[in-house]
Amino acid sequence: LADPVDPSHALFDRFVQAQTCKETQQNFIELCRHLEVEPRDYKHFYSKLKDRLNYWKAKDLWQKIDKRGAHPDYEQGQACHQNKCLVLGAGPCGLRTAIELALLGAQVVVLEKRLSFTRNNVLHLWLYTIRDLLNLGAKKFYGRFCSGSIHHISIRQLQLILLKLALILGVEVHTGVTFEGLQEPSGSTGWRAQVSPASHTAAAFEFDVFISAGGGRCVPDGFKIKELRGKLAIGITANFVNRHTKQEAQVQEISGVARIYNQQFFQALQSEIGVDLENIVYYKDDTHYFVMTAKKGSLLKKGVIKQDFSDVNQLLAPANVNQEALQKYAYEAADFSTDHGLPDLEFAKNHAGHLDVAMFDFTCMQRAENASLVKERKGKRLLITLVGDSLVEPFWPLGTGIARGFLAAFDTAWMVRSWGKGVPPLEVLAERESVYQLLSQTTPENTSKNYAAYSIDPSTRYPNVNLSSIKPMQVKHAVLDAHLHRLYDTEDDSVRRLEDLLSWCQKNTAGYKHVKVKDLSESWRSGMALCALIHNFRPELIDMSCLDEYNITGNNKLAFDLMEKEFGITPVMRAREMTTCGKIDQLSMVVYLTQIRTALTEKHT
Ligand code: FAD
Repeated sequence: LADPVDPSHALFDRFVQAQTCKETQQNFIELCRHLEVEPRDYKHFYSKLKDRLNYWKAKDLWQKIDKRGAHPDYEQGQACHQNKCLVLGAGPCGLRTAIELALLGAQVVVLEKRLSFTRNNVLHLWLYTIRDLLNLGAKKFYGRFCSGSIHHISIRQLQLILLKLALILGVEVHTGVTFEGLQEPSGSTGWRAQVSPASHTAAAFEFDVFISAGGGRCVPDGFKIKELRGKLAIGITANFVNRHTKQEAQVQEISGVARIYNQQFFQALQSEIGVDLENIVYYKDDTHYFVMTAKKGSLLKKGVIKQDFSDVNQLLAPANVNQEALQKYAYEAADFSTDHGLPDLEFAKNHAGHLDVAMFDFTCMQRAENASLVKERKGKRLLITLVGDSLVEPFWPLGTGIARGFLAAFDTAWMVRSWGKGVPPLEVLAERESVYQLLSQTTPENTSKNYAAYSIDPSTRYPNVNLSSIKPMQVKHAVLDAHLHRLYDTEDDSVRRLEDLLSWCQKNTAGYKHVKVKDLSESWRSGMALCALIHNFRPELIDMSCLDEYNITGNNKLAFDLMEKEFGITPVMRAREMTTCGKIDQLSMVVYLTQIRTALTEKHT
């Protein structure tokens, strides 16, 4: 195709095709400048960009984003429109979470200490993550996405796709900025971050949600860590240049050959070249990527590890590793396992310009005991939560990193949604922990197969999830504030508050025709009960005799409009949805009715 005539089209193409983090950011800035759209105007940025860029190549991307954004969970970007979220880390999980938070309407700022995305390593993807990324337009950004026989993507390509989407949705991403710690509120300022360089504008950002997605072992204060120690496991990764020739294309990928399944292959590998492995994986992506678990004995014999130590840190300390022998070891394993089919194997370069081969220990895996906590200082509450490897370190041979990482990103977004709706902190935390309990057991088999229905709502992904398996009182330790503890001193508190609300509603709607309040969900569908409540306190606002109980949309619209106009209460859903939605969300209704009770009783006492 010829170059587009309209400069904004060419800029958009350059942005979409950018192959580095820097190029992506620069093209994005140029595109915004050219179209005169201000990325910091995060609430309107995406719709303005869409309006001003009338380009056929962008249209199917808009369609995909609009389809996702139209999901009722996001409430047209209103669910979290007052929340400000800081995300630590632009790894795949931090960026995926940022995208969801932006769809919920929150202001989102991401801090990333690195200046570039350089990780060649290739991740195996579960089917649901592929579907998720395709639905977000991954192929638009990376045409080769999942076109091979095994589904995978390099970490850097995945980051590039997610970065582009995040920018389009108005997320502010700062690279070259290191998060150093939280800065407690003082005077009239809220929670902020200490960053390096200290003068960076991100230091002034005040937020009420902090997402820690800094990768393995980057866990903020207040979280307890569990360590799972297995038998000694030494991993080796190696990336070789992929020239995308016909000959390279013909070589078969290896989707995780474990020793127990192919004794013969591993015995031959050992006897012929002295490389002794537990397993090996080979994926053909941007690079030829190999990852293997090597036995200590053969590493010692081949001179990769110089001296034997029982302490694994000493064993794999850089001074105890012979880099050249390691390169040879990885090279021979790669060459042998592909039956010498890859011509001219040449190591790719890593971020430091060195040959991309690395050895690492995964004997010990970490997992946070709780996923989130709440801090309150000077009356300012902060929700702190972990996602990705910092929540649960993955076991790479099972490819759980991105699959569980994205599940946690969605669960986190669901929690922030409740936070944004004003659900009390202990209830927010209890629900999050109830869902988190399932994460480490998730497999492609026990998660829902209905990928098309996946949303941030945990019940769309985890069959039979019990959102209240953990009770608010059980997470009291996760609220790091004495004042909040006093508010929740009895176990029955949340139940009692719901009962109070229900009986207040019943008392104030008693005797109205076609109104019978039995619960805090379905009883409100016809809109009659809401109108009755208003009428009970402000009879001059509504003529009840004119209402038709079957005009669900009309009654709800009347009540929602009056509540907004007279009392400044934003509706929880659109009137039309009261007719069409399958089930009325009790959580939303409770938040709405609580606000109504406060407004009506304040005005009338
Ligand atoms: P990361 O990708 O680690 O990103 C964290 C980001 O935070 C980084 O960019 C970092 O620079 C930044 N950061 C950290 N601290 C700060 C700070 N203080 N300030 C600012 N920024 C900061 N997963 C799979 O799903 N399938 C696989 O096949 C697979 N294979 C793997 C093979 C190997 C050898 C390894 C090591 C991992 C593998 N994984 C696999 C796991 C996968 O790489 C991780 O799960 C995934 O990258 C985690 O994403 P994340 O966003 O949580 O963290």
